[in-house]
Amino acid sequence: MPENQKKALQDPIFSILAEAADELSVDCFVIGGFVRDYLLQRGMPKDIDVVAVGSGIELAKSVASKLPGNPKISIFKNFGTAMIKHNDLELEFVGARKESYNRDSRKPVVENGSLEDDQKRRDFTINALAFSLCKRNFGELLDPFDGVQDLGKKIIRTPLEPGVTYSDDPLRMMRAIRFATQLGFTIELKSLQAITENKERIKIVSKERIVDELHKILQSEKPSIGFALLHKTGVLNYILPELMALEGIEEIEGQRHKDNFWHTLEVVDNISKTTENLWLRWAALLHDMGKAPTKKFHKKIGWTFHGHEFVGSKMVYTLFKRLRMPLNDKMKFVQKMVLMSSRPIVLSEDYATDSAVRRLIFDAGDFVDDLMTLCEADITTKNPRKQNTYKNNFKIVRQKIIEVEERDHIRNFQPPISGEEIMKAFNLKPSREIGLIKSAIKEAILEGEIPNEYNSAYRYMVAKGKQLGLKISENER
Ligand code: ATP
Ligand code: MG
Repeated sequence: MPENQKKALQDPIFSILAEAADELSVDCFVIGGFVRDYLLQRGMPKDIDVVAVGSGIELAKSVASKLPGNPKISIFKNFGTAMIKHNDLELEFVGARKESYNRDSRKPVVENGSLEDDQKRRDFTINALAFSLCKRNFGELLDPFDGVQDLGKKIIRTPLEPGVTYSDDPLRMMRAIRFATQLGFTIELKSLQAITENKERIKIVSKERIVDELHKILQSEKPSIGFALLHKTGVLNYILPELMALEGIEEIEGQRHKDNFWHTLEVVDNISKTTENLWLRWAALLHDMGKAPTKKFHKKIGWTFHGHEFVGSKMVYTLFKRLRMPLNDKMKFVQKMVLMSSRPIVLSEDYATDSAVRRLIFDAGDFVDDLMTLCEADITTKNPRKQNTYKNNFKIVRQKIIEVEERDHIRNFQPPISGEEIMKAFNLKPSREIGLIKSAIKEAILEGEIPNEYNSAYRYMVAKGKQLGLKISENER
């Protein structure tokens, strides 16, 4: 057995697994992602999939009884699987099985089978690899479909006929594209064709599973690989048609606009170099979505996309809802980024006044840095001189944000005078005037007419009240 395989199974957990399997007289193997990631040296995987030729649940019970601290087993009887959490490891147990599929569901009919049957039902050759935990050949690598060779050649290939594999379970189309993106692998041509032919079957996959894969694509080093493949195979049209609508360049009277689909993919790759924040990456993916429905040609000024940020931010909601993504503060964050995505650009094109910077900080709040990161990623010009200018301009805006924030503390703006104080000062009942005065104070601060502090705001309030015909109450004098 090669040295490195031995090392893979060095953790004491594997001897415990082997011992338990031996006592029950079942053959048992580590399979799938653990073996693949170990051989790719992606670090020691934390998920361990164990397949038993017999009952996975019985094996799990026996393993749990041998582990210190008697860990809890979660048993999923319907699936014939069990799960144990042990230290930072997650052990998944299943009995070896054969699968057959119906046309209208991705849930197979299952019967017991051999290890080979189980390897055949795996999606890709690189995911069908197994290490034996049997006493007679502990640590042996079982690779019936040349998965190791495919790891070397960096190829995603199915063990069986690709047409059948993808049609049986169309989630595999997303998985193929996700692995290609995560690992920088190529999908074998026959597979790519089969995905293209079966693209429509993505409809039978649950939204949650699709979104899981989209997250993983977005969390990769170069997400554009995945989106380009989703586009090439046509799957994208079924899951994110809003992005497909951005593709293409139109020309009227010699005036062209850029292809906003390919531009978007560049922006996503750019931002992935500077942030791990999944939701900021989503914002990059969706930031120009409103450009398709707002596109217009004007004889005098050429192509415009007026209001695309606002339209785009509304589309974020529709898209999240359709994909059953939670409509929570993450969604609101993405909406905010899309809505504000042009603001720093406008600032950087001109001299950024203090008041414009204060307004930007006020509107973006804690997310002003994220917004700047998005705008910097949005620079995709191939002209090095322009690229430099834009980058420099954003640097200036960033510097200005720091200066203005240090001085004026706008980031988490709290009105220096509360509504109650205004009521007390003018002896007012709740009324329209209070709102007017409050927003006048806020405006005066943002415009730089008064500093963001109590005394100045109080004086301003008194003056504003006077204008509205209000009198300061006796005990406030
Ligand atoms: P990761 O954990 O990074 O998502 P993984 O390959 O471990 O990658 P899991 O979803 O954890 O993926 O699945 C574990 C194993 O189960 C896979 O390696 C593969 O052998 C098998 N598998 C998972 N999903 C499918 C599927 N849809 N069709 C066939 N086999 C699958
Ligand atoms: Mg896994």
